Amino acid sequence: MKRSDKQCLNCGKEFLPKTVTSVYCSHVCSKKAYKLKMIRLKKEAEIKALTDKIPQNRAFISVAEAGMLFGIPNKSLYRLVGQGKIPSVNLGTRLIRIDRRVIEEMFGPARSLAQAESAPKKKLYSLEKEDCYSIGEIAQRFQISEGSVYNHIRKYSIPTRQIGKHVYAPKSEIDNLYNGNDFI
Ligand SMILES: [Zn+2]
Repeated sequence: MKRSDKQCLNCGKEFLPKTVTSVYCSHVCSKKAYKLKMIRLKKEAEIKALTDKIPQNRAFISVAEAGMLFGIPNKSLYRLVGQGKIPSVNLGTRLIRIDRRVIEEMFGPARSLAQAESAPKKKLYSLEKEDCYSIGEIAQRFQISEGSVYNHIRKYSIPTRQIGKHVYAPKSEIDNLYNGNDFI
């Protein structure tokens, strides 16, 4: 691998990046990765919509609900129930209910809770000037208008800081936002 080469995040092929932020070797790979990302986001949204409907204070949940809440395959849960490792109440055929607290003890907090708890940790950006791009720099670097940059910053709630006449945003957040989108 030459020093200037990168490995495509989609197909793994080595390629000479068009810009420092390129992570895909081609338009095709970029589109594919984007499509997969959209499918994943849609799935996550669907699961979230379903899990949001499960009341937090309901102690007994179905296997399917536990699977969604804790991100565990239903098969594994049924196996653990079958082995008696997860106590269950059988309300009839296909109506097994399991104790949410037991699952929590075994697998840690449910997804929604885990996400809520890890959210503050996600703020790993720094607003020190050397860790930021100015809006002008972002526009130039990613070849978009300053207006678009401001729109994206608002849309994705990216933190900014005004230093003198310029507005700055964390490099890490901006790189995350535009990385891999350079072909789209
Ligand atoms: Zn590729």
